[in-house]
Amino acid sequence: MARNNVSSDAICTGQPNAGQLYIVATPIGNLQDISPRAINVLKTVDLIAAEDTRHSGHLLRQLDINTHCIALHEHNERQFAEKVIQKIKDGQTIALISDAGTPLVSDPGYFLVKLAHEENIIVSPIPGPSALIAALSAAGLATDRFCFEGFVPSKRGARQRFYKHRQKEPRTMVFYETPHRIIDSLQDLSSQLGEQRKVVLARELSKTFETIKSDTANALYEWVVADKNQQKGEIVLVVEGFKAPECDTISEETERVLRVLLAELSLKQAVKLTVDLSGEKKKIIYNFALSIKDKLDE
Ligand code: SAM
Repeated sequence: MARNNVSSDAICTGQPNAGQLYIVATPIGNLQDISPRAINVLKTVDLIAAEDTRHSGHLLRQLDINTHCIALHEHNERQFAEKVIQKIKDGQTIALISDAGTPLVSDPGYFLVKLAHEENIIVSPIPGPSALIAALSAAGLATDRFCFEGFVPSKRGARQRFYKHRQKEPRTMVFYETPHRIIDSLQDLSSQLGEQRKVVLARELSKTFETIKSDTANALYEWVVADKNQQKGEIVLVVEGFKAPECDTISEETERVLRVLLAELSLKQAVKLTVDLSGEKKKIIYNFALSIKDKLDE
């Protein structure tokens, strides 16, 4: 049965639609971070597909949610997705949750959602926490453009290549890291992206020992080495994008224009017109003009 992927009154009133798939975000630490809408959907769907039913059982019990749960294991995700899609086609409404945060963000669910789209099933997200966005929002680094790079590779060689490939990435980068690799990872980050690169370590977000520490890569590495507590818990690294060093030369064309204007006008006028015409930096053009004048005056 083909369906249009449009919201209905049922969604607006918080009552789940029959025969659709909800992608429900759950807390990344603090249980109060689940939305009333998420609770309502989890209470009223026919079935919850969970990454790990034992893990999610704890959350669901605390929220007094008694909906039946089935396990979505990564190794059987394709097979599982087909079963779930069949249930939805038969009219059931299903919610997908992961162990923490937003499903599909470094968590299973991709095959299920992909298949749902292929089968024209309505997929509706119930937005909520994600460590990626929580860390980014508090990091104090540029957020106008950023890239999420998931988990940093576990083996040293692969990890060094991974960071090296991102040396010139201009956007803010967000990585997930594990506590037992954080020291090696910061060491490799520092050697590949530069000791002075700004890095923010966001640890145990929304939990008792939440820590958000911003420093240069090398200083952060030394700080984590010196404090065993920083080597525990769940960690996100937010890294400043590459900033090209300011170029102190001007293009050949700009130099030609500047020379012509300097021959006819005062230094100030020549610089102003060259800046207007080229759009290049005034300071650089001014310094260049001075050096040309000095040579002409010699
Ligand atoms: N789906 C989750 C999300 O939306 O953020 C991510 C799941 S991924 C398997 C788990 C990783 O997310 C952890 O290893 C850690 O890097 C990060 N993470 C999850 N919860 C966190 C928290 N409370 N504080 C810091 N990082 C967290």
